[in-house]
Amino acid sequence: MATTMDTLSHKAQRAAFGVALDMALKHIEKDTSKGLLDVLDISQKFMGDTFKKETFEAIRAYISNPENKWMQFVDRHLHRLHPNVIKTTALNLGFEAAFRGTKTIRKMRQEHHCNIPWLILMDPTAACNMRCTGCWAAEYGHNHNLTFEQMDDIITQGKELGIYFYMFTGGEPLVRKKDILRLCEKHYDVEFHSFTNSTLIDEEFCKECVRVGNLSFSLSLEGFEEANDGRRGAGHFNNVMRAMDLMNRYGLIYGTSVCYTRANAEVVTSDEFLDLEIEKGCMFSWYFHFMPTGNGASPELMPTPEQRKYMIKRIREIRANEGGKQIYTMDFQNDGEFVGGCIAGGRNYFHINSNGDAEPCVFIHYSNVNIKDHTLLEVLKSPLFMAYHREQPFNRDHLRPCPMLENPQMLRKMVEESGAHSTDMESPESVDHLCAKCDDYAAAWAPVAKEIWAEQKHKKPSYTNYDPAQERGVFQEKIDT
Ligand code: SF4
Repeated sequence: MATTMDTLSHKAQRAAFGVALDMALKHIEKDTSKGLLDVLDISQKFMGDTFKKETFEAIRAYISNPENKWMQFVDRHLHRLHPNVIKTTALNLGFEAAFRGTKTIRKMRQEHHCNIPWLILMDPTAACNMRCTGCWAAEYGHNHNLTFEQMDDIITQGKELGIYFYMFTGGEPLVRKKDILRLCEKHYDVEFHSFTNSTLIDEEFCKECVRVGNLSFSLSLEGFEEANDGRRGAGHFNNVMRAMDLMNRYGLIYGTSVCYTRANAEVVTSDEFLDLEIEKGCMFSWYFHFMPTGNGASPELMPTPEQRKYMIKRIREIRANEGGKQIYTMDFQNDGEFVGGCIAGGRNYFHINSNGDAEPCVFIHYSNVNIKDHTLLEVLKSPLFMAYHREQPFNRDHLRPCPMLENPQMLRKMVEESGAHSTDMESPESVDHLCAKCDDYAAAWAPVAKEIWAEQKHKKPSYTNYDPAQERGVFQEKIDT
């Protein structure tokens, strides 16, 4: 059945969706449920062929229940956020990325027989304005930058492939905040997100973010004041709090990015820590398992199997429909079952460092290609990316998704076979050195993960990129059985 969208050009589709959204947002001011039901009706009318009818029905039931925890969450933030931020995010993340982008990406995957991601992460700079323990960015980072033209070119190429979501990491991305705002302006139809240490967020920048409407933030935080500032320097914790208050006042979208380690896993998931984030207006908290990437990394900071088991239970408890907290939590190492395991290598995302090297993942510093002399499609078809495409999922047990952390034999094999080189600009690390730090961890975690995985109720059917025209890796067969 043809939907409203089929008969209109892209520009006209976006404009029509925008007008309908404006009307719905007016309703939201008076009655959130009514306004949201309007948005849902519009979405179904426009995008009904992209998502299942049952999905729309399930969302309708949620919206109609004012007692629902997530409805209360949405209600609170809809009244806090600036209208231009709400509208632009709905248009860019919803209409462009999720609806139109997904359709194009699916088509491109079939056409090109390689991974096409939904999201690209890039480092505008390796420079940083802080001097954290063990980090070299302040000293050497200014030597490595992506130019505005290079980032613009990546996004322009990406849009052709259906990619409408871009994130900035670093270094400290906001060292380049003028260029980031220029990108937001030029690519007004794309959604941007920046990880940040928060120290460069000021009043003027917040005003600009409201004006463009398509930039949100993850603020790095590692615990309460003493533990956080112990690594990041005196005053950092208070700076994060200051930035949150400012962004809250201007109605921006933000949350935290938390690296959990053996030293802080319990604290950063405590009721007190989450209550503080909620009070400060955070919408989400992304949890990242500590990765021993880099010659100087300390493997002893990796969480114990007991701590990882605790994290699985605790993160799900926090975001459960009943109880928990009104903040959306995600643990990228333990939520693999919802996304089919590892999302790197262009399956859902990949990373471009400040030197232009295209890496399968922000934690995997190996590459065959650089965007300075290769197109995005050439990157996605490069040997290491194609190895990811061929071998994913790296394990049928999605509590062991990573080719480095839980299946180090896979990364050794892929890097060696693809001839990828280290992209570490300061101290190149061999794949053997990196994976050797994960061998004991992987062996200790495997039996615990297997036990938990066997009890998981909502396992999604697995998938494969297997193409009979291509060779399947032998290790895959071993892990599968
Ligand atoms: S390579 Fe590892 S850390 Fe990166 S996305 Fe895949 S599973 Fe996660």
